[in-house]
Amino acid sequence: MYHHIKQLMYTVRIGQPDPRFGNMLLEQFGGANGELAAAMQYSVQGLNCDDPERKDLLMDIGTEELSHLEVVGTLARMHLKPLKSDRNAAHADPLIAIAGGGGVNLYNSMGDPWTADYLKITGELDVDLRSNIAAEARAKIVYERLIDFTDDQGTIDTLQFLMTREITHMKAFTAALESMGKPAFSIGKIPPTPGLVDQYFNDSTGIGDRGEPDALGPWNQGGDWQIVTAPAFQEFESEKAGTRSPGADKAA
Ligand code: MN
Ligand code: MN
Repeated sequence: MYHHIKQLMYTVRIGQPDPRFGNMLLEQFGGANGELAAAMQYSVQGLNCDDPERKDLLMDIGTEELSHLEVVGTLARMHLKPLKSDRNAAHADPLIAIAGGGGVNLYNSMGDPWTADYLKITGELDVDLRSNIAAEARAKIVYERLIDFTDDQGTIDTLQFLMTREITHMKAFTAALESMGKPAFSIGKIPPTPGLVDQYFNDSTGIGDRGEPDALGPWNQGGDWQIVTAPAFQEFESEKAGTRSPGADKAA
């Protein structure tokens, strides 16, 4: 069950309202990588989780994200306040000015409605935890960009708090995944096909305009890796070498 405490998780103070920045903040309110998406993703994953220990983790972090939603919504409202009465400020977000009367709603900065399609919920705990680690990384980078676009110290302090918590969550989800003791590439029950799984398909040929060669790195070289010429190109090459080469008719 949920219980509301009449206090923000982080006390929000700002200097001058900046309506355009208030609009940008909506990315973290009703956007794809925002706080509602995080709260719903972890809470619904938690609801589906049969592992009581990791369920507790998912519910705890899901609940904290709801508290973040409250903080970022409060911050956005402060910046959007001039929209209520100032025609120029209303240009920063006509949807909020006209339909919302200056109040925030579950839209992103472009006015797209929040959608459950943002959520990654697979019912497979380790797969969900991987999604959550990536979700936290995205939330972190969005906060960082928001911080880069404001000079208001109170706003920066609030965003720094929220950004930091996303790294905390990333650490917790990573530790939870590692503690499951699953080998790194073991997903689900059916093993991948031996041999094929270690083949890196070189799906490009030639040198790019800026001299880009076929790159080698730990993603295709060393260990079990085997670099294989692209399947499509293999066919082309063998046709070229054979008697029925595609150019043969033309030459004759
Ligand atoms: Mn958050
Ligand atoms: Mn988080």
